[in-house]
Amino acid sequence: MTTIELLIDFHINANRQGPGSTETTLKAINFLDINSDETLNIADIGCGSGAQTLILAQHLNANIAAIDLFPDFLEQLEVKANEQGLSEKITTSATAMEELNFETSSLDIIWSEAAIYNMGFQEGIAQWRPFLKNNGFLVVSEISWLSDSRPKEIEAYWKKAYPQISTVSQKIKQLERNGYSIVAYYKLPENCWFENYYTPMLKRMPDFLEKHLENPDSEIIVSSEREEIMMYKKYKEFYGYAFFIAQKVSG
Ligand code: SAH
Repeated sequence: MTTIELLIDFHINANRQGPGSTETTLKAINFLDINSDETLNIADIGCGSGAQTLILAQHLNANIAAIDLFPDFLEQLEVKANEQGLSEKITTSATAMEELNFETSSLDIIWSEAAIYNMGFQEGIAQWRPFLKNNGFLVVSEISWLSDSRPKEIEAYWKKAYPQISTVSQKIKQLERNGYSIVAYYKLPENCWFENYYTPMLKRMPDFLEKHLENPDSEIIVSSEREEIMMYKKYKEFYGYAFFIAQKVSG
């Protein structure tokens, strides 16, 4: 197995592949000024196995394009959508988020939880904007600094892992500079990290290591996740997932 295949195997049976919760997705939906009589066109980019896709499908009158690079995650989403009777509202597509080909001004909402970092926040908000209708919504969660200064150890750790990490106010400025107005911002609470993401991940580790005993990359994956968890425990007051709800300004 390649490292990517191992990573997929480690995350495939998880409910979610990043921090988040039903409540925080619903909270974002509540900020949207939308007409429920019209069927909305939504793209959920980097959907993983679809925790948030299913919530969107449950609560909105919408056609949802669920996009992820890896078909294995999309298969999981398809099974769940089928079980919940939501298949008609969700169309999966194994496409890179850098290579989307929606028609110009065709989407009412672009949704992306814990995924835009894969192409970079700046590239994502700029390259996806043309797909949105005027006044369409961009809803993204993104790892961000929560205050202006922080200990060197955590600064170095995240700068290396994700050079585009910056403060919430810088991200908001960036959205404004790229043709969006800000509707809302909030920080994901700790349960989105521990209960919903890290704790289930810690539980999966022993079986995963046992299953891939012969592959040293499995140890590397587990120890790097353990380091990330340790960092969050130690420094969680300084960074978090910021949920941004923005609206495309015409022009
Ligand atoms: N939104 C989900 C998954 C977040 S994890 C959740 O919150 O649970 C990030 C997801 O982005 C993964 O499912 C990964 O497969 C996907 N991904 C990584 N690189 C990508 C790319 N270049 N294009 C599309 N999806 C990508």
